[in-house]
Amino acid sequence: MILRMGKKSTSERPRLLVAAPDGAVFEHPTLEMALDNGLDLLRVTQKDVIPLAADWDLMAMPGTRPVGYDPQTGTFTAVTTFTTDDGRTFEPWAVACHPPPGYVRAFHTAAEYTDATHPDTKLRQQAEEIAARRARDAEKMKKRGLHVLDSAGDDARPGLPLWAYTAVGATSKGTVAALFLADETTRWSPELFYKGDLKDRIRDRLALDPDNQVLQQLSQCAGDYLCCCASNVFYERWEGAVPVAPACTAACLGCLSKEPAWNTPTPQKRLKFQPTPDEIARVIAHHLERAPEPMMSFGQGCEGEPTMNGPVIIESIRLARARTPRGIININTNGSRPETVRACAQVGANALRVSINTFDRDVYTMYYRPADYTFDDVIRSLYVGRDMGMHNSINLLIWPGWTDQLAEVDRISKLVDDGALQMIQLRNLCVDPGYFRTALPPREQRGMLLGMKGFVAELHRRHPKLRFGTFNPRLAADWWPEVPAFPGGRL
Ligand code: SF4
Ligand code: SF4
Repeated sequence: MILRMGKKSTSERPRLLVAAPDGAVFEHPTLEMALDNGLDLLRVTQKDVIPLAADWDLMAMPGTRPVGYDPQTGTFTAVTTFTTDDGRTFEPWAVACHPPPGYVRAFHTAAEYTDATHPDTKLRQQAEEIAARRARDAEKMKKRGLHVLDSAGDDARPGLPLWAYTAVGATSKGTVAALFLADETTRWSPELFYKGDLKDRIRDRLALDPDNQVLQQLSQCAGDYLCCCASNVFYERWEGAVPVAPACTAACLGCLSKEPAWNTPTPQKRLKFQPTPDEIARVIAHHLERAPEPMMSFGQGCEGEPTMNGPVIIESIRLARARTPRGIININTNGSRPETVRACAQVGANALRVSINTFDRDVYTMYYRPADYTFDDVIRSLYVGRDMGMHNSINLLIWPGWTDQLAEVDRISKLVDDGALQMIQLRNLCVDPGYFRTALPPREQRGMLLGMKGFVAELHRRHPKLRFGTFNPRLAADWWPEVPAFPGGRL
């Protein structure tokens, strides 16, 4: 990590937070909070941070050391020991937050990582043919200076759980975080979901279709995982999820529903069965017929890849559309099956969201580890969506220090100019930062960094009609065309 010298402080700035191994968080008495833009450490300014809600959790980062800015010396310093007011001394861990819904991480937590290798035992169990292909990819990536995840060192630090570790600090008015708001959150407030009547609604809905495996899965997703889109199915409103895919065509480093590369628990487990077209269609049609602003989304976050079993979802859409033309059927996909996207559109799907972490082919491959498709298929899916008249968005898994390159802005601009992209959903990439920062190409291979706010501002300047957000758009609302391109407000 490169440390950059800053100017001496004269005004109060957010102070560094450190965590004890028991999870207690303390303010550092002399050091300021520091920011990590993905390449360099920076001194925090007022415009870099916003207040964090008092009830939003902070997270300790085990195995890391917090780094702060010392205004007396004008240097960045890693804190290796910390003594509390009551005389307790410990080796502190860095502190972070995961962004609340609707918010985007602008800076990483400034931290030192004790090492940057991780076990990958499951990768070795994968099919030989995939391994051979990845070996070829790896050779190519190594030539570019990409670090390839391929071995477990004896002294490997356990990977951090899959969250988007964001810089936080302390002020006299409370905790602040290096975030910005990128969407309106009216439909996603916790009080709309975690209500006492959810159990009754689940029971009543299951009673209408008791043998439906999709509904049974959704009851677990809503009740155990507290998934908002699953809950919406039972509240019969807005966007609902329709989980259908037990497997995937990729093996992402940060997959939230599988543990292919990290010995860390994932928050949700994939479903373990393949539902039939008819039971999928019953769930979709019931929702689209009744819900206000109805949308039903395949592949909504923590299942596998819905287009992997094309005939099943194509038939389910056809059956659902035979019941109702109302509402939006949305395909969230990794883009590996462009012809399945085309077939889904032909039978009535009208929105497409493609998940992608970058428009750099090698870095895409390094992160997604595709089994049987290529980066070109992903791009082709967007052009198929355009040709079929779908609303096209991308789920852009953002990483400050990589996403905000001018080169990425140029690559995205090409898609917008071609009419293949109407919206960018900014999603915070959840992956171990100690590993991932070393996995990306070195500084010499990155262009100018704009910062995450600068990235959005530059795209907005070039394409005033390109929309930004963090959730699927409210396409079924009459007033959707009037929504501003950047509903989060001022950057
Ligand atoms: S594409 Fe999605 S489901 Fe598949 S491995 Fe990646 S994150 Fe997981
Ligand atoms: S997003 Fe995940 S938790 Fe929600 S319905 Fe889909 S599979 Fe279930």
